[in-house]
Amino acid sequence: MELPRYHRLRGAYYRLEGSACPGCERRFFPPRAVCPSCKTAGLGTVAFSGRGTLYSWSRVVQPPRGFASLAPYDVGMVRLEEGPLVTAQLADTEGVELAIGMPVEMVTRKIRDAEEHGYIVYGYKFRPLLRPGGAGGP
Ligand SMILES: [Zn+2]
Repeated sequence: MELPRYHRLRGAYYRLEGSACPGCERRFFPPRAVCPSCKTAGLGTVAFSGRGTLYSWSRVVQPPRGFASLAPYDVGMVRLEEGPLVTAQLADTEGVELAIGMPVEMVTRKIRDAEEHGYIVYGYKFRPLLRPGGAGGP
């Protein structure tokens, strides 16, 4: 990723910031300048709660370059409670039986191996929100 883009998206990576449309109230992640739905420009910044539910996931066993030390790991799509669908690595899934609709929350973790010009090493992941008294359940 080139540097200007990284700086522009830094809030998105560390604080899960997206944009909100004043016209139709839809919310977007990553942030957008123009609403694709109603074409309103000048969308405002909104920080998402980081809570959502697991929409789908898959296990990565053969990781791309820069992710070797993390493998195997799970990548999931999370439906944020504010609406947007976010793709991210999942954290703390060892020993957890993942299920569609499972509540998850955002955490900041190492997302890739450090390398020269590797700007983004830490960023958001989602971990299963375990209920008090044990993992999973209906
Ligand atoms: Zn809109």
